[in-house]
Amino acid sequence: MENGGDADEHGGVSRGSSPSSLVFLGTGCSSAIPYPMCLIQPSASPCGVCIQALSVPPELNPNYRCNTSLLIDYFSGDDKHKYIIIDVGKTFREQVLRWFTWHKIPRIDSIILTHEHADAILGLDDIRTVQPFSPTNDIDPMPIYLTQFAMDSIAVKFPYLVPRKLKEGEEVRRVAQLDYRIIESDCEKPFTASDLQFVPLPVVHGEDYISLGFLFGKKSRIAYISDVSRFPESTEYVISKTGAGQVDLLILDSLYKVRPHNTHLCLPQTLEAIKKICPKRALLVGMTHEFDHHRDNLELAEWSQREGIPVQLAYDGLKISVDL
Ligand SMILES: [Zn+2]
Ligand SMILES: [Zn+2]
Repeated sequence: MENGGDADEHGGVSRGSSPSSLVFLGTGCSSAIPYPMCLIQPSASPCGVCIQALSVPPELNPNYRCNTSLLIDYFSGDDKHKYIIIDVGKTFREQVLRWFTWHKIPRIDSIILTHEHADAILGLDDIRTVQPFSPTNDIDPMPIYLTQFAMDSIAVKFPYLVPRKLKEGEEVRRVAQLDYRIIESDCEKPFTASDLQFVPLPVVHGEDYISLGFLFGKKSRIAYISDVSRFPESTEYVISKTGAGQVDLLILDSLYKVRPHNTHLCLPQTLEAIKKICPKRALLVGMTHEFDHHRDNLELAEWSQREGIPVQLAYDGLKISVDL
């Protein structure tokens, strides 16, 4: 496999020629792969995708998937790289140890959250492990862009990560230092994180819930949508070839292969959405153990040939050069 290398050239996304890049820190569902039950109670016909984890090291195993997360290495000129991470899930620490070292990512400059589910935010406590050490928390806080809804949820789940005045006699304890910046669930309200502009893409993630995707990049336009069950028309317009214009790369949710799910797109709906949106290229994320990387990428290559849109499963550690 091609860890540490770049993906093939397709639709404005090139091999090693651009100083900016995307690193797929995670491409799996919330339970992550291997799914523990497949290893601790293997059935009569063991799950081949999860069993691989017992004999193949994760960096050589494209079926080893942590929580979906993307690192944008944005080269903003003047020899400056900015490192922007989308989502900090349950497996964040493992992803840093594995892929930050492999791809020589020295730090995080800002965080963007799609929503406040466990697989997008439960790694926030570990942000302190990638911040300069100060026992008194005397460091610059890391900007984190999120909706007011996500902010309210974090204040309940991590009250100690929200700045407040210490009570009398209360000791200072070292915790992640975060600078919360509220964004709107509105395609018309872009925001800038570490010099790069992002357009929020509100999508339905179960009929009672709105999650965000993001559109970014001027030279190459990239749409990242990790948690979606249905596209509102106004969001679909912003990223569609027949709407505001064709995107160079669409990174899209696909949970199961066959059966449907109430809060995520599954492969048939994912491919249907890709045909409608018509990007130059698409990569899938958020997969369960129903997907076998090599087998299903062969099937997707046939679909791509037929439909004229290259689509593949992404994998943890995949790095692609992009001109942002
Ligand atoms: Zn399994
Ligand atoms: Zn979710």
